[in-house]
Amino acid sequence: MSASIEERLYTIRYKADEKSHLIVKDQDVCARCELKECNYFCPSDVYLWHDDLKLTSVAFENCVECGTCRLACPYYNIEWKYPTGGYGVSYKLG
Ligand code: SF4
Repeated sequence: MSASIEERLYTIRYKADEKSHLIVKDQDVCARCELKECNYFCPSDVYLWHDDLKLTSVAFENCVECGTCRLACPYYNIEWKYPTGGYGVSYKLG
């Protein structure tokens, strides 16, 4: 049995900033995007399309800073920066 994403993310630590370092530039672009690729390529499930609200939510607190979304959105609709200094992910256990 493999571990869930939540169980795997529990092995790393975050210090979440109040302000997101990941910005969806234009929600209308997400609405027109057929495959919603960001809902699948992010290893931390940061992006989730909400069909009822017609928007992509961004759970930036879970970002492991892999940089995939910077390149993988076919519309380059994600503005990507590292978190502010002192914030973000830490790969030390405990
Ligand atoms: Fe997900 Fe990686 Fe983008 Fe963070 S940098 S939101 S972990 S794809």
